[in-house]
Amino acid sequence: MKTIEDFNFENKKALIRVDFNVPLDGDFTVTDTNRITAAKPTIIKVLEDGGSAVLMSHLGRPKGTANPDFSLAHIAKTVSEVIGVQVKFIADCVGEVAEKAVADLQAGEVLLLENLRFHAEETTGDSGFAAQLAKLGDIYVNDAFGTAHRAHASTTVVAQYFDENKCFGYLLAKEIEAIEKVMRTGEKPVLAILGGAKVSSKITIIENILDKVDHLIIGGGMTYTFVKAKGGQVGDSICEDDKMALALEILKQAEAKGVQVHIPVDVLAADDFSNDANTQIVDSDKIPEGWQGLDAGPKTLANFKTVILESKTILWNGPVGVFEMESFAKGTIAVGNYIDEATQNGAFSLVGGGDSVAAVKQFGFQDKVSYVSTGGGAMLESLEGKTLPGIAAIIGE
Ligand code: AMP
Repeated sequence: MKTIEDFNFENKKALIRVDFNVPLDGDFTVTDTNRITAAKPTIIKVLEDGGSAVLMSHLGRPKGTANPDFSLAHIAKTVSEVIGVQVKFIADCVGEVAEKAVADLQAGEVLLLENLRFHAEETTGDSGFAAQLAKLGDIYVNDAFGTAHRAHASTTVVAQYFDENKCFGYLLAKEIEAIEKVMRTGEKPVLAILGGAKVSSKITIIENILDKVDHLIIGGGMTYTFVKAKGGQVGDSICEDDKMALALEILKQAEAKGVQVHIPVDVLAADDFSNDANTQIVDSDKIPEGWQGLDAGPKTLANFKTVILESKTILWNGPVGVFEMESFAKGTIAVGNYIDEATQNGAFSLVGGGDSVAAVKQFGFQDKVSYVSTGGGAMLESLEGKTLPGIAAIIGE
């Protein structure tokens, strides 16, 4: 894997794809600088080597038009503050103005290009547009994990114009290493905790992960499709009847592969999908009509705790209950605490994909796990076993 460490940027211009798709408030002020901070080490490395950095990113979905609401000019000041260098901004990302600005760029300087998605050719992966972008640097660095699953001009196609002169930035390299640990190189026992609402959205991940893990915890809304498939009564719980055969097939495959599957044995059931509903703890296969399971029960959490504390490599994707409502967040918080304890005992823990990061941040677990992925969709596709186009473009697959 070629990373930024393999290059010396002295007198070189690095064309860096970053993910500065940051949230803005009504006054166009950046409300969360995490993504800018995440790209900082890569930019600093280029500058400290004696090179200059040309930053390209998208912001929102302007759909191929130069809509000023989505201008990266809004974030230039914040980028300057976070990076600690006065960043220059140029009002296009290709063409004469951009080429002139790059030609004038001196070692130690940083240039931020205008939103890539002001050009429709970005998302269509147009090679002419990618060739224009390629003129803006000597070495291409991809540090945008959040868009690595897209075959866009700046994330994938542009790489073909750089022969050997392309690599991953620190952030993307860290993401790849974290996935590798879970999928291939991590210390055993390896555990995947898959929660969330539906089996149908996680099925490809489950099938792929069965070859990689020793333990699989199934939680959240997915529980009830499995429980009902095994003959249990799930009351009004969320359940995909058309996925029950698949659920049984997964359990069969897991057994054949020697994977231990842990499904909730008891749940916190409610008489309404509401924070103020009446609740009771019931066995997961005896949920009365009119009641629905919305969080893991105490016996289940005790089982989960044992498995989590025995594991040396842990992947967590998806909450084990309706964590958005306080009454049903306890299970997800407990799982976070067990992972925290396991991590303190030396386990490697990765959280990522879809909504998981939101849950982890809401409860302050981001500093307690080993790694929190920065890419929802990109992480999900990695867990499904796909090679992401942005990664393939650098490693030459
Ligand atoms: P996902 O995006 O698939 O990871 O699903 C996350 C969503 O699953 C969250 O919004 C949770 O509220 C929801 N969820 C978790 N457990 C349940 C449950 N028992 N019933 C309904 N929804 C649930």
